[in-house]
Amino acid sequence: MKKFFALLLSVMLVLTISIPAFAAGTATVACTSANEVKQGETLTVMVTVSDCDPFKSMAVTPSYDKKVFELVSGEWVLTEAMLTNFNGTNGAIAYSSAVTKNGNIFKLVLKVKADAPVGKTSVKADAVIKNGDTTIPVKVTAKEVKVTCSTHTFGDWAVAKEATCTAAGSEKRTCSVCGVSETKEVKALGHNYGKATVTKEATCTENGVSTKICDRCNKKATVAIKATDHAFGEWETVKAATCTEEGTLERKCANCDATETQTIAKIDHEFGEMQVVKEATETETGLKEAKCKHCSEVEQETIPCVAPVAGGVDDYLLWIIIGAAAVVVLVIVIVVIAKKKKKD
Ligand SMILES: [Zn+2]
Ligand SMILES: [Zn+2]
Ligand SMILES: [Zn+2]
Ligand SMILES: [Zn+2]
Repeated sequence: MKKFFALLLSVMLVLTISIPAFAAGTATVACTSANEVKQGETLTVMVTVSDCDPFKSMAVTPSYDKKVFELVSGEWVLTEAMLTNFNGTNGAIAYSSAVTKNGNIFKLVLKVKADAPVGKTSVKADAVIKNGDTTIPVKVTAKEVKVTCSTHTFGDWAVAKEATCTAAGSEKRTCSVCGVSETKEVKALGHNYGKATVTKEATCTENGVSTKICDRCNKKATVAIKATDHAFGEWETVKAATCTEEGTLERKCANCDATETQTIAKIDHEFGEMQVVKEATETETGLKEAKCKHCSEVEQETIPCVAPVAGGVDDYLLWIIIGAAAVVVLVIVIVVIAKKKKKD
């Protein structure tokens, strides 16, 4: 019987040694938090576990520099546990049966002391995880945190990356106390073109081109020069309008061969005074004419026949008759007188 117990004990011993080596995986207990924290501010650290086999109990002991941090709170975030506690130094959790829990397990809130030394410090949580009597091996990973000034003492901005014509650059300044640096963007500079030179003259009808070059990156840019439009001179009469034909006005561009023409409307005839070219008689009509001052057009007007002069002609005949009668009477008187004398 003693031999049996001795054997059993040795088997158990072998098992307890060999189980961690062969059966159980190694759990990783890590801390996650912000990478930087300022003096006087609080830092929330989440303790996580990964690759952890089923377990029944777990104990965590947060570990941090007491010159840097003071504890605010610590609490388990795992649920459905049989018991949980945290006494300010150690925390424990227990389940009635084995559970598999990976992810966040414990939340630790630390406050950075106002006079904490700036620079890097680390936070970790040591852990003991057990499944009954079996201890699950744990690998602990520390979280490095940088403690920075509550108010930085920055130096001057210095160029970190030169801005170019097209790409933004950056400037950086560093705190002389904690080494924290800040960067800010510097806008792309834009091209710095020199004077544009005409590479193709504009004409009256075609656009020209001027070219300019950036003195930083040599980028070429072209700008259109607007066509100038014709520079027409005064209208000139190339053909005067007449009474019968339209005239033409023309103007020429001073810079090219372009011409423009315009029609001058025909002018009206302009007749002068009517002039008698043939007198009318009693039997034939006369003719009056007026000539156009500008062309050969003639306007004619007929002069009606002259009416006979009735009164004048009658008087003339009357006087001839009277004269003739008087002569006859005189002759008779002379004859009568002559006959009387003969008788005497
Ligand atoms: Zn600083
Ligand atoms: Zn440029
Ligand atoms: Zn022109
Ligand atoms: Zn005319």
